[in-house]
Amino acid sequence: MQVDFLREKFLKFFQSKKHKIVESDSLVPKDDPTVLFTPAGMNQFKKEFLGFDSGFKRAATSQRCLRTDDLDKVGKTSSHHTFFEMLGNFSFGDYFKEEAIAWAWEFLTKELKISRDRLWVSVYKDDFEAYGIWKDKIGIPVKKIVKLGDKDNFWPAEAKTKGPNGPCGPCSEIFYDFGVDIGCGKPDCSPACSCGRFVEIWNLVFTQFNRKDDGTLESLPNKNIDTGMGLERLASVMEGKQSNFEIDLFAPIVKEIKKRITVKIASEKEFVYAIADHLRAAVFCIYDGVLPSNEGRGYVVRKIIRKSLLHLKTLGINEPLMNKLVPLVAQVMRVPYPDLKDKQEDIALVILNEEKNFINVLGSSEELFKSKFDAFIEKPDSETVGNVAFMLHDTYGIPLELTCQWLDKHKVCFSRKAFEQAMEEQRLRSKSGSAMKGDVFDAKGLGLKLDATKFTGYKENST
Ligand SMILES: [Zn+2]
Repeated sequence: MQVDFLREKFLKFFQSKKHKIVESDSLVPKDDPTVLFTPAGMNQFKKEFLGFDSGFKRAATSQRCLRTDDLDKVGKTSSHHTFFEMLGNFSFGDYFKEEAIAWAWEFLTKELKISRDRLWVSVYKDDFEAYGIWKDKIGIPVKKIVKLGDKDNFWPAEAKTKGPNGPCGPCSEIFYDFGVDIGCGKPDCSPACSCGRFVEIWNLVFTQFNRKDDGTLESLPNKNIDTGMGLERLASVMEGKQSNFEIDLFAPIVKEIKKRITVKIASEKEFVYAIADHLRAAVFCIYDGVLPSNEGRGYVVRKIIRKSLLHLKTLGINEPLMNKLVPLVAQVMRVPYPDLKDKQEDIALVILNEEKNFINVLGSSEELFKSKFDAFIEKPDSETVGNVAFMLHDTYGIPLELTCQWLDKHKVCFSRKAFEQAMEEQRLRSKSGSAMKGDVFDAKGLGLKLDATKFTGYKENST
């Protein structure tokens, strides 16, 4: 499979450049309490970025990642995922811009033999150093070097003005050009345009500053390199596919879902792609020990599974199906995760239970609606109805569309504003309760001063 070939090629290439090949961290970050799930390759190296000596100054990984910020976009766009693998090479106070740029270019054009005509780059508008390297050392024509601002080419985005404090720096992205036939066709179309002609394949972050309280950027004594390249995206480029979901990795899963569709709808493809994505996410969350529940990480898994079940229902599939597709995930991911096969039955069972529960909830929704809303047919109170609709959504996972269908049919007034307000309050509550706030590099949370954990389980029952 293309992804297996690319993953191996990437790691071997950086091994030849004296990088230590480090295993992917779990989706539940080992020692980074600032995030719920591992969102990128660099998270497992925060200590090294802060100067902690782990015995190596260069590393390369293929990190399994989970992001849920764009959950609603998954399936609708060509490249949003919840679960994905990210290839990355890292330097901890060792090499910097010149090597990072030269090696990225060498990997893409020499190892993968991507035509240099197809590649464009962007640099941060004030980063004359990176601009000079691309122009003079690599020889990219100036019209193919795009200068972008704080939002696109600084990491963390807009950190200069908005924070957080801590290590930050400009970045440089490499784009693949699908050609003038794709996209807007405007003569000035460039990677700054969002028409789809250009896709970003690799982001090189040059962590060279430390942002301080007053917003000043102090030069870091140890400059770091942090790069990230989405494996599925790279595979889509190599396979000549415009959508990540068309690569061979997803093919068997997509085929199996399509076989069972009984209701034809215009957006079928979007739903099928979303289900294929969510299935992989659910499998790997459970693989990493996160079980569906009503809070925290478990709630994310539950939400992802329920979203898929609603999509399946729309496609006319009302039987538990996701659990049956788990072996396909184990199959397509067998090279990086050979042990997934041994766990596939347990994972499928967890998913099956979750499927059965939610299908039951959906089946009994008629009664639930009756018991909750009947009183409001006589006595309209749109605000309370809005709040109850939110409660049904939050507690039972009943989607608003389903509730609204019932309310419409029975002519019960509903305040969308009340629903949205309740949703917003919930969002704020969960935000203040989660650990996902504060500085990206919060050394306090990384346990840098703690002794190493000792396993005492052979001698003691409790510690
Ligand atoms: Zn364009």
